[in-house]
Amino acid sequence: MTAKLLDGKRLSAEIRDSIREETACLRKGGIVPGLAVILVGDDPASRIYVGRKAESCLEVGIASSLHRLPASTSQIELLELIGRLNGDSSIHGILVQLPLPPQIAPDAVLAAIRPEKDVDGFHPVNMGRLVAGLPSSRPCTPKGILRLLKATGIPLAGKEAVVIGRSNIVGKPVALMLLEENATVTICHSRTKDLAGQARRADILVAAIGKPRLVTADMIKEGAVVIDVGINRLEGRLVGDVDYGPAAQKASWITPVPGGVGPMTIAMLLENTLELARKH
Ligand code: NDP
Repeated sequence: MTAKLLDGKRLSAEIRDSIREETACLRKGGIVPGLAVILVGDDPASRIYVGRKAESCLEVGIASSLHRLPASTSQIELLELIGRLNGDSSIHGILVQLPLPPQIAPDAVLAAIRPEKDVDGFHPVNMGRLVAGLPSSRPCTPKGILRLLKATGIPLAGKEAVVIGRSNIVGKPVALMLLEENATVTICHSRTKDLAGQARRADILVAAIGKPRLVTADMIKEGAVVIDVGINRLEGRLVGDVDYGPAAQKASWITPVPGGVGPMTIAMLLENTLELARKH
């Protein structure tokens, strides 16, 4: 079997087109969706991500403001800025780019964002709502993964879904969202025994590990849908967590890296901002 391409670049462009139209409608009604992005320090990858987010906002008519703070910023200074943005009625979504410098505790920062402005869905209240199956801003990468899966047209109910990785930003929330869709979900991590055996059971395999090409073709069931979340630099190029070429010979659908999950993450950030502005 040769897999069909699950093209996140194309799907995200369609989503951005419809967001642009909806933003224009809101603007006509006097509401300009506003996203505040906070970047602390000079991490080169974070600067690139933040730049892409700002460009994408501009493209769809969302007003974005970038708050660049030096790496020496104290936690109190950052919390003060978040406090001001929480009270600013022109800002509907607040995003703090991770990672943060070591003197700042990310948990305290994420919890300081008002849950109604938590565009990333990482606030404990919104994480709790996800666990309870209640509406909330869903974290962007997992939400983008669900959109990609739905784009295949394959029903998720009753499918065996195996998620490799249990981080709070990808693995755990995507597992919960697959459960919400009535898949039977297994979460694997670095202590999982027989990772290959677990992965081979998957109708839907999500790799969110951060290890280049850890998932090899022999770990993939014939006809599985494979979502590769990983972004790794290897010999000067970007590769995923899945050994793409051989895996594509076994999967029915597969996401490329780059051009799979990455563009969907940004599209979902725009969508979450728009939804928060609409609720406002
Ligand atoms: P984390 O490092 O937070 O989590 C990685 C997870 O993988 C952990 O749960 C870890 O297990 C597990 N793991 C590590 N090694 C193994 C192994 N040998 N076997 C099984 N499990 C293993 O990473 P993130 O979740 O933040 O990100 C994962 C990847 O996705 C990264 O490459 C990141 O760059 C990328 N990413 C991409 C995004 C996009 O938009 N495309 C967005 C966010 C992330 P344990 O918990 O036991 O340590």
